[in-house]
Amino acid sequence: MPEDDKGHDASVLVELGWDSYFSAEFGKLDRPDLVPARVVNQARDSYRVHGADGDVAAMSSGRILHDSAMGGLCPAVGDWVAVRPAGAGGTAVMEAVLPRKSTFSRKVPGSRTEEQVVAANIDLAFIVSGLDGGRNLNLRRIERYLTLTWASGASPVVVLNKADLAADIPSHIEDIRRAAGEVPVLATSATEGLGLDVLKEHLVRGTTGAFLGPSGVGKSSIINALLGEQRLKVGEVRRRSFRGRHTTSHRELFLLPGSGAVIDTPGIREIQLWADEDALSGAFPDIERLADGCRFSDCTHESEPGCAVRNAVEAGKLDAERLGSYLKLKKEVRYLELHQEGRARLEHKAKWKQISKWAKSFHRLRG
Ligand code: GDP
Ligand code: ZN
Repeated sequence: MPEDDKGHDASVLVELGWDSYFSAEFGKLDRPDLVPARVVNQARDSYRVHGADGDVAAMSSGRILHDSAMGGLCPAVGDWVAVRPAGAGGTAVMEAVLPRKSTFSRKVPGSRTEEQVVAANIDLAFIVSGLDGGRNLNLRRIERYLTLTWASGASPVVVLNKADLAADIPSHIEDIRRAAGEVPVLATSATEGLGLDVLKEHLVRGTTGAFLGPSGVGKSSIINALLGEQRLKVGEVRRRSFRGRHTTSHRELFLLPGSGAVIDTPGIREIQLWADEDALSGAFPDIERLADGCRFSDCTHESEPGCAVRNAVEAGKLDAERLGSYLKLKKEVRYLELHQEGRARLEHKAKWKQISKWAKSFHRLRG
């Protein structure tokens, strides 16, 4: 079995998304007594983590509990953690949470600034809509999911499912492209198995995906089709857990045969609901607060003098990556606004080329 320089069985870790970034962060801890593992389930304060030795129960160390009470990271599904391995049949102890590549979070209801992390380290967010007519295809909603995804640090892929029910797929794709810009747009049919290969090409080994979208668009059906088994109940009405608390014990992060991993939690499924509650401007309360101190009221925090936000980064009070995500989000929101005014016409021709190429491959798949 391939082993990394610390002697861990690296192959299962790599499949789970372990890479040079996490390896470097783990190295910085300088804790040879700990091993890396990924959080695959969270139910209140009890966790399951998957590492080189398989799937075990885990709990937070006193230090993590203390730090998270002080605003530090509290483990969430998708996190990479450094654990003290469990004794026989025991519970592993999570001693540290590695810095995240991306974070889907919501504000805690009733609190101005407190964040609850819904899932961590998602690389690709598949934003799923249904081509079955009516309310299942809604451009504004897709835009909100796109904004959420950019804010998280993940990359979006728009998925138009139930393509078997649509008459004019290229025109739907064109509509989405106008709103979504450079984001990949795919059409699939989970029930007929169409377009799933293209989806899998995005979700390669070592990447982690999540499926966002309202109930009924086919997220479970797509995941089942990718898994090759009926693991998730299709058409199930899931109870909304507004507090984000749930007590399931099934895996919420799982590997797809021959491709990447998927995170599927109630929190991820309901993220849009929460965004509506919270308003997106609330996603970066720390930066918005800092911005009050900038010399210019329209400061873009890129190069202006007297910028309180950049000063905070220089002083080590604000994470440069977090500022990066914020600026990206601002830019994308502006981009979306421009698109709504018809900017897409410029790229119209190139887009059509792509669409007809795609439409051909779809018909090939179909026929
Ligand atoms: P979820 O709530 O987003 O997880 O959606 P489900 O996977 O539970 O699917 C909702 C309903 O849509 C079920 O009745 C599925 O059989 C149906 N469905 C899912 N994908 C497709 C598809 O590609 N084509 C058609 N015609 N129906 C689909
Ligand atoms: Zn500024």
